[in-house]
Amino acid sequence: MTQRLASKADSYLNRLCLEISNRRVGSEGNRAATGFFAEVASAYGFRVEAPEFRCIDWSEEGAHLTAGDETFEVHASPYSLGIRAEALLAVASTLGELEAVEAANRILLVRGEIAREQLMPVNFPFYNPEEHQRILGLLQARKPLAIVAATSRNPELAGAVYPFPLIEDGDFDIPSVYMTDEEGARLAAHAGRTASLDSRAQRIPSAGCNVVARKGTDAPQRVVFCAHIDAKRGTPGALDNAAGVVVLLLLAELLEGCEGRLGVELVALNGEDYYAAPGEISYLEQNRGKMGDIALNVNLDAPGHLQGNTHYSLYGCPDALASAIRGTLSGREGLVEGEEWYQGDHMVFVQNQVPALAITSERFMEIETTVAHTALDTPDLVDRAKLADVALALRDLLLALEALPGN
Ligand SMILES: [Zn+2]
Repeated sequence: MTQRLASKADSYLNRLCLEISNRRVGSEGNRAATGFFAEVASAYGFRVEAPEFRCIDWSEEGAHLTAGDETFEVHASPYSLGIRAEALLAVASTLGELEAVEAANRILLVRGEIAREQLMPVNFPFYNPEEHQRILGLLQARKPLAIVAATSRNPELAGAVYPFPLIEDGDFDIPSVYMTDEEGARLAAHAGRTASLDSRAQRIPSAGCNVVARKGTDAPQRVVFCAHIDAKRGTPGALDNAAGVVVLLLLAELLEGCEGRLGVELVALNGEDYYAAPGEISYLEQNRGKMGDIALNVNLDAPGHLQGNTHYSLYGCPDALASAIRGTLSGREGLVEGEEWYQGDHMVFVQNQVPALAITSERFMEIETTVAHTALDTPDLVDRAKLADVALALRDLLLALEALPGN
């Protein structure tokens, strides 16, 4: 069984990561991926809906920055507007400097402690630290023509990408580019003199969708298995998170003939790696007043790493539910319970008082800090047999939940 499912996993993975070149929200590849998910789930007898949302895609044709007779390597911030400007250069590296700096109609270089982690988008509803809002508010109040962000290598806070874009936000309208902190130090020497920036980028109105595949009775109580189907620009997104989507597709097949008392939803959420989380917001809107009917959310994000075990963690599960989960999962080879983590779609459910189970790789932090969101996140990092084992375990978990009194 595992072997047959593993070869299915292989073909799904290749389809999502290799045949489809990129799954960023709003792109053609993203629509191909959601279409593929819908097609497979329907083939196994699921009723499929694909509620659409508006979003933007983005394209860029390079960026160029000079000051004096020096040239600097810069990249357009994802989802930024383009800009062509020649203006005086202002610099700020602390909140205090940002409050005081004269930056109106200038190019503003931001570096140091205010550029050490990516700023959450202005309209991001799930997690938004006050300090980030403060920095963004000050940037807007200073009214620079453009922002140049110099960011450091910071795998703990910024992940595997270096330099990382300080701003990745289609709702923030001051054009921006980013560079390494070494380039930033070189550029800072030109403070007060003229710099010239040319960044060719544009926002493109587009659309995307979640895919919600349902099975089972119309009983309101249901189990929601989800995985985010989108990926950042420029990554095949194999572990993050074609792997999770593949588990859902294997589960669709395993549940083909099964009609229990609990409703089942397999959801390809579309937006975990996109600045505005449109799929997550759309799911909450569609389920307003019905989140309380969800007996359990199971979120799959980056399972199946070649090395190490599969890791599961529980969030807000009442005792009977928790022991049903542990009773099913704890004895299985290669599955271990570990610490809670919060940077995934299960939090969308947990924040709405829905009990959740998150499944990832034991080496999650290593993935986050070395390959996630880069070109290195390729299918050869994924163990197909581990994905098959997770799908089999989740089928058994569903059967155990069916037997729970109260469900
Ligand atoms: Zn992910």
